[in-house]
Amino acid sequence: MSADLLRAAIRDVVDFPQPGIVFKDITPVLADGHLFRESISLLCKTTGGAKIDKVVGIDARGFIFAAAVADRLGAGFVPVRKKGKLPWKTRQTAYSLEYGQSIVELHEDAVKPGESVLVVDDLLATGGTAAAAVKLLDELGANIVRISVLIELAFLNGRSKLGAHPVSAILTY
Ligand code: AMP
Repeated sequence: MSADLLRAAIRDVVDFPQPGIVFKDITPVLADGHLFRESISLLCKTTGGAKIDKVVGIDARGFIFAAAVADRLGAGFVPVRKKGKLPWKTRQTAYSLEYGQSIVELHEDAVKPGESVLVVDDLLATGGTAAAAVKLLDELGANIVRISVLIELAFLNGRSKLGAHPVSAILTY
């Protein structure tokens, strides 16, 4: 199966959640067993076989992909969550995304210094969300192996916010 089938399944929703945004709706991919499995396989391949201790998923659609990738890689799963959702001691950082502002948090003991992590999200837009996750992981001393997303909106140049960290996208628009 090729990434073209994934691309064909992703639905553009114009003016959601606000005017001017073309929202990439990945629910048709999730709803199709073959497409969902293929999306996880392609995300796993982005590691190139590197050892991954933890897969870090970003709230909320990132969780869906990251948890499945973690299971496939035999790695742990770590959530980066929107403010106020994590129960233990957290680090937090504020960031802006394509349509608004937010604060994300990470448990202080979620990753040990030197652990190898793969960051997974559904979509890279301006890069603010992924950069916030990277900042928190850097503070904990994680070794960020790669940031892998299903979709990259390349025209928003989100990679520029991620420094030297390698980024992989299965589909680029
Ligand atoms: P950003 O911080 O601008 O890179 O935004 C990335 C986050 O916002 C991801 O977690 C996406 O789920 C969500 N997002 C931003 N823009 C879109 C879009 N056009 N379609 C779907 N999700 C989006």
